[in-house]
Amino acid sequence: MFRFLDGLDRRQRLFVKIGFGILLILLVVLLIFRCTRERTNTSNLDVDATEPEIDVQLLDINEYSRPGTESDPITGIVIHYTANPESTAQDNRDYFNSLQDGHGDYISSHFVVGLEGEIVQCVPTWEIAYASNERNHDTISIECCHVDETGKFNKETYISMVKLTAFLCDKYNLTTEAVIRHYDVTGKNCPKYFVEDEEAWKLFKADVDAALKKTKK
Ligand SMILES: [Zn+2]
Repeated sequence: MFRFLDGLDRRQRLFVKIGFGILLILLVVLLIFRCTRERTNTSNLDVDATEPEIDVQLLDINEYSRPGTESDPITGIVIHYTANPESTAQDNRDYFNSLQDGHGDYISSHFVVGLEGEIVQCVPTWEIAYASNERNHDTISIECCHVDETGKFNKETYISMVKLTAFLCDKYNLTTEAVIRHYDVTGKNCPKYFVEDEEAWKLFKADVDAALKKTKK
């Protein structure tokens, strides 16, 4: 394979071979570095964008949490946190439903992801929920449960958040550009953990993107 070396003397041949050797080693190192970097950019979850298990428990139609108003075409997914440590998906769903008795608050969410990764749906995706202020009309909201005041999500909750978000992106033909925080709408510290830790937010979006790509293969 080194026929072109025939015209060179022994010393020159040796130099060329060493040169090739160094080049090869550099290429391998570069390749390993790239692969490692790609891997650390996501959490390497075994998650794709197929439909997750969803426990559908629609709220009663009422003016405070499920007005029954049809949404505009969906252009975004908004992530929230419950700001109520240890509360479960069921607690939050039941709270939204109890608002119909007229506590005066207008609050709800399409989905709540619980502490064990359970997903409860409260409002159909074609109706508006009261979660994301001026983006209620054209987004789907996901409330996420958390264990303590830091707002950090446990692994079970996180995996279901990624799966549900990827599923909704796939369903509505959205990219992760359309996945936003409540903070991005109003400046509110919600979801706290993803507002205070920008890297964690980037990682979440990368994980959603990886789940989407896994499904599109
Ligand atoms: Zn929020």
